[in-house]
Amino acid sequence: MTTDIAFKKCLTCGKTIKGRTDKKFCDDYCRNGYNNQLKAGDNNYVRNINNALRKNRRILESLLPDNED
Ligand SMILES: [Zn+2]
Repeated sequence: MTTDIAFKKCLTCGKTIKGRTDKKFCDDYCRNGYNNQLKAGDNNYVRNINNALRKNRRILESLLPDNED
């Protein structure tokens, strides 16, 4: 049986990851960047819908009175 190498490389920036070997990214920034890249690649459709929803929400929030509930 082969043992896992003690250090891996970040899937986004290629930096060596120290510590736990089950990590795929060196930090949250790289993890988010990688996920965004995936979404942008083959899911433009969903992304456009999400953008539209976000825009709608912003418009609705600007129309509603400040109501933190
Ligand atoms: Zn990284």
